[in-house]
Parts: sequence; C-alpha cells; structure tokens
Amino acid sequence: MTAEEELAKIAKEVAGCTACGLHHSRKNAVPGEGPADSSILFIGEGPGFHENEQGRPFVGAAGKFLEELLASIHLSREQVFICNVVKCRPPGNRDPQPDEIEACRLYLDRQIAAIQPGVIVTLGRFSMARYFGASKISAVHGQAKHVDGRLVVAMFHPAAALHQPALKQSIEDDFAKLPALIEQVSKQAVPASTPPPDVTQLSLF
Ligand code: URA
Ligand code: SF4
Repeated sequence: MTAEEELAKIAKEVAGCTACGLHHSRKNAVPGEGPADSSILFIGEGPGFHENEQGRPFVGAAGKFLEELLASIHLSREQVFICNVVKCRPPGNRDPQPDEIEACRLYLDRQIAAIQPGVIVTLGRFSMARYFGASKISAVHGQAKHVDGRLVVAMFHPAAALHQPALKQSIEDDFAKLPALIEQVSKQAVPASTPPPDVTQLSLF
C-alpha cells in the first residue's frame, strides 16, 4: 500500500470510528490533511467548531494564524501535513481526556508511519505530552528532541498564542528556527543507495 492509500484508509476508518465517546457529538471527523510525503508534520489538539463543520483541520482563527506562521518561513499549508491528537471535536472545545487521546493514538501513529516526516511540530500541551511526557510547555517550547530518528519540536498552541502577546512572540520565534532544523534533518537523510553497476554494459567488454 502506498502512503496515500494508507492515509485514505485511515481517514475512512476515522470517519466511521466509535472507539471513544467523542464520536457521539462529531458532525465530521477531522483526520488531518496534507501531502503523503510531507517532510514536516504538525500535531494540534483536536477539532474545534469550524473544523467539525468542515471536516478539515485548522480552518478557524487558529488556522489562519498557523497559515501566517507558515508563510513567515515561506511554507504554505498545502506543503505540510496537519492533524490532531483526537480526530473528533470535544464538546464545547473542552480538553481531550486521557482515554480519548489513548483511543485515538493508533490513527496518529499510523499517519506518522505512513508519512515518515523528518520533523514533527507539536502544537500545545496534548501533542507535546506524546514526546515530552509531563514537561511544562513553557520550559520545552522551541526545543528539538530526537525521537525514533525524527526531530520533534514543541510549540505553544496557535489558539493560545493568538491572544497572548508573550506567547505570540514565542511561537513566532520558535517558527523562525524551523527552517534551520528542517535543513539539518534533510542533510542527515541517508542518501539513496548507489545503483548496482550495469551488468549488461560491463559484459560488452
Ligand atoms: N485547534 C486544534 O488543535 N486543532 C484544529 O484542528 C483546530 C484548532
Ligand atoms: Fe475514534 Fe478518535 Fe473520533 Fe474517538 S476521537 S471516535 S478514537 S476517531
């Protein structure tokens, strides 16, 4: 199965998933979107009102800010994969509960395994916890950590940063560091193995 096929399969499974209570209140599941070969993957928290209406991640105010942050490093949302720790909207935008995050975990694991991004950016506390455990986001934001051969960078959530000037400055500064990290990862990428010598050619001599 290609990465595109696996992502489409995951999206279909998510649309019919009843593994946690969040399926009761969803209008549209929000599996995530972006190219199957994205070198960078963003993980938010969960769908909000607009995402639940449209079935797409980060399409409200936080999404607009995320697009501005991407533009500041010359990226568009079409170039990156964007998803969440839970794929269905928590009622009233409450925090996702541990059992809901756990029930949804495998979908995100499979998306990461299919896409194989070199860099993962966690947006907010809940995606941060996947990689940084009980650390405080105020302490680890902007830091990069190697996990399973990828670079994981924790950042504040754009919805939180949007209305708090200090956090806004922090997320802007953290985004500014991303191009260098992406460059670092692409340099480390294992070069494609040298093709074997062309035996037909050799046999001519
Ligand atoms: N906030 C999130 O965490 N995810 C979205 O998709 C939208 C807003
Ligand atoms: Fe399934 Fe995740 Fe939706 Fe819960 S949030 S119903 S685990 S897709």
